[in-house]
Amino acid sequence: MPKQNQKFIFVLGGIVSGIGKGVTVASITSLLQSRGISVLPIKADPYLNKDAGTMNPYQHGEVFVTDDGAETDLDLGHYERFTGLSLTRDSNFTSGSVYAHVMDLERRGDFLGRTIQVIPHVTDEIKRRIITASRKHKPDITIIEIGGTVGDIEGEPFLEAARQIHRDYGSENVKFVQVVKIDYIFPSDESKTKPIQQSVALLRSKGIQPNFLIVRCKRPLSKDNQEKISLFTSVPQNHIIQGIDVATTVYEAPLNFKKARLDDLILEEIGVRPKKPDFVEWRHAIQRVKSMRKHIKIALVGKYTEHSDAYISVEEALFSAGIAHGAKIEIVHIDAENDNVGDMLKDARGILVPGGFGKRGVEGKIAAIQYAREHKIPFLGLCLGLQTAVIEFARNKCGLKGANSTEFDVKTPHPVVDILAEQKDVKNLGGTMRLGSWKVRAKKGTLVAKLYGKQEIAERHRHRYEVNPKYHAALEKNGLVFSGFAKSDARLVDFIELPGHPFFVATQAHPEFKSRFLEPHPLFLGFIGAALKQ
Ligand code: GLN
Repeated sequence: MPKQNQKFIFVLGGIVSGIGKGVTVASITSLLQSRGISVLPIKADPYLNKDAGTMNPYQHGEVFVTDDGAETDLDLGHYERFTGLSLTRDSNFTSGSVYAHVMDLERRGDFLGRTIQVIPHVTDEIKRRIITASRKHKPDITIIEIGGTVGDIEGEPFLEAARQIHRDYGSENVKFVQVVKIDYIFPSDESKTKPIQQSVALLRSKGIQPNFLIVRCKRPLSKDNQEKISLFTSVPQNHIIQGIDVATTVYEAPLNFKKARLDDLILEEIGVRPKKPDFVEWRHAIQRVKSMRKHIKIALVGKYTEHSDAYISVEEALFSAGIAHGAKIEIVHIDAENDNVGDMLKDARGILVPGGFGKRGVEGKIAAIQYAREHKIPFLGLCLGLQTAVIEFARNKCGLKGANSTEFDVKTPHPVVDILAEQKDVKNLGGTMRLGSWKVRAKKGTLVAKLYGKQEIAERHRHRYEVNPKYHAALEKNGLVFSGFAKSDARLVDFIELPGHPFFVATQAHPEFKSRFLEPHPLFLGFIGAALKQ
């Protein structure tokens, strides 16, 4: 039997994908949190991959990693950055994982000769995951974002599961928010609401009546349009909330929703009393963003430069560190495959080499790091950024000609980055890396220990290769400092730095995943601080 104290809000898309459902969920979560309400956000992804881990950043944007090592959709990054929460694998699942689980049960004989069907077997499994996560984490409200758009074939079982949860838990405990967009027709730029009417009609044909509509628009929504949408969709007029394009930063979105009293309206609608009236810290942070006077260029040397979301956590971490320093960060994307990377770095006050997989662009990254080291430009390396920094140092400072990672050259004479023996037998590429949060002990007196303000650190990982322990001595002898090793295995180098350089720090981890809008990350703070001193 459903427990009556469980409350659910489903956030669904309409018309097109990519209209900001993730930011909407993150915004609603942060608004409700600021009223003293605990919220568990979940992203349910209708695609058939088992998780986001094997998806190409070109196509799908960044893979976000949680503390417990889940490789998830980048929307979890929005949720964490907006809310300060550290989510777990319970907050993201895909159709692929649901179907795989149902098929495992079928093979095990759990269904005893019955026919396995989308309804009830697949829908039951979707419901089970949502309800179990909510029971386990015990939030006041669970918010579930269903990926894609109403009408997608893969999304059907998810909508059906949501409809059933509404039936089981009652309309007082389950609410629906649909995110839609106003259409502007060419060439008059006149706004049209028809696509919204049709999209809501499609959702209603699945047995779901939205309680709120978030209407994405580039101009304020007119009263006329609001009335018309309300008439055609039966959504009360004051529940039709404009989601206007933000002028400066996505973090303005919650403030816009706050102006429309979305937090009060949702809480009234779902029957939860707010515990406090608050949103002060957020407003201050947005004021700081709007009053930033300084401006610097940071070069991001990567290879997924065409997809705007491929490095989203890195970009957000730079942005948040910039706010703390009162500086607007202009990120200059440098394609690591370009032949003259050095020339392109001339205006950069800091150089960042992010994570990545595969050989393409590696030599350009190494050239950028050499430039940063020799020209004393602040450098921050993340994951592959650490590995390429070690390769560069080995080749150019330790005289190890042809040094490389075995990921890029299996026959290198100096495999300074390599797969450790116990990893060598791994055959599957999905979910087999050093993943999730690892503890590190930073070496006393190093820049890394100083930046974190402590020696005990935990950061999230996602990689297969490591600095080869056979070369530690040679690298150290030539001046590279290993400023932190994994606590559980002293062979695993997690931080390096170069003394005598204004800022040359790299980590095998992905600290960008732990930076928050209101809580910038110490490594990024240090990096931007050093860049501003240039
Ligand atoms: N390709 C490297 C590895 O697997 C680095 C991975 C990364 O940057 N996330 O070790």
